[in-house]
Amino acid sequence: MQTDAHDEPVFLGFGVPLDNYDIFRLRSQFLPLGKIGGKPSWLNPRTLPKSADLTCNVCQKPMCFLMQVSANGGSADPEHAFHRTLFLFVCRDPQCSRPNDAANLKAFRCQLPRANDFYSFDGPMDPDFEGDVEDPRALSDGPGLCRICGCQAAKKCAKCQIARYCSQSHQVIDWPAHKLQCAQAATDGKITEEEKNPRNPFVFKEFGVEIDQEYMPGNLFDGLSDDEGDDDDEENGEDDETEEEKNKRIKEFEKFVEKNKGKNVDMTKEDLDAATTEQPKDTEFEKFNRLVNLSPDQIVRYKRHGEPLRATATSQLPEEIEPCELCGAPRRFEMQLMPHLLSLIDVDAIGQSIDWASVYVYTCSASCQISNDGYAKEFVAKQDFS
Ligand SMILES: [Zn+2]
Ligand SMILES: [Zn+2]
Ligand SMILES: [Zn+2]
Ligand SMILES: [Zn+2]
Repeated sequence: MQTDAHDEPVFLGFGVPLDNYDIFRLRSQFLPLGKIGGKPSWLNPRTLPKSADLTCNVCQKPMCFLMQVSANGGSADPEHAFHRTLFLFVCRDPQCSRPNDAANLKAFRCQLPRANDFYSFDGPMDPDFEGDVEDPRALSDGPGLCRICGCQAAKKCAKCQIARYCSQSHQVIDWPAHKLQCAQAATDGKITEEEKNPRNPFVFKEFGVEIDQEYMPGNLFDGLSDDEGDDDDEENGEDDETEEEKNKRIKEFEKFVEKNKGKNVDMTKEDLDAATTEQPKDTEFEKFNRLVNLSPDQIVRYKRHGEPLRATATSQLPEEIEPCELCGAPRRFEMQLMPHLLSLIDVDAIGQSIDWASVYVYTCSASCQISNDGYAKEFVAKQDFS
């Protein structure tokens, strides 16, 4: 996807189920537009995020690959970012999923120049004609990958010295499958292809990603109370209050105080507002719903430097996004994960699973160069319906 200008449409991403024999199309060498679940198709297979960077901020255990999106800005991006992919990880433990808190999620940005060690200058290989092209990892002297999560693996099975893991917890998950072949691997020094890609319960179900433009009818937000069609928030309600409305509000407040006399209520200005202002409709939620209903299967909304689509007015998105730690440029909105993604990856059991109304990813607006063209952590925020 190539996006930069403000008048660009919003791009919507959809999950595409693939048969097992087509999953290879999502491997790194074909530079997939995106993928959900399975293991990451690393853009740079050599300089991977460290295991310590991929742990959950709540439980400190390894996170699971959630999805990746290839998103270069065409001519707007610097030469070192000819290829540009965002990677998202989430902790699988539902206990770590807390309302309006993105501590169980992480996002990384990786970029490569057009001339690089891993991909042809002329673009990605065609999976239909060059199906058995080698994984770029084989072309690099990149690190071994964990058999469970596909991330950098600094540890080896002590018995065979072949099977690799990012962590002890992943070795434990793999042991029932690996023990059948561990002795053999120790003897012949290799692991069969099948063994290299064991199906395991840790990774999410794998999908491809398709991208389409959003078409939004002009009258979509008609009838929404205070700001028809206007994207800005409705925080200007107070300024618009007429004298008459204000008097009415004060009268109601007096009634409220009268009613609550002796009940030991300590009124603040906020209480006054809460008590006397009619509970506002959640127009953010209403807008969100109308837009999502146009394409209920959307799993990603993408608009580089666009505006996030807030899911609800009951919680706020952070007003200040930390600037890029590498270059100091401001971070700006890039993409948003939608609730339908939860049902694709099978974690949408209410109240007992990972949850979000939306996950918002903000990235360095300069797409600055990363040391060794590796992976830079970006900023994630989360909103929940609660
Ligand atoms: Zn966790
Ligand atoms: Zn692992
Ligand atoms: Zn072993
Ligand atoms: Zn930067």
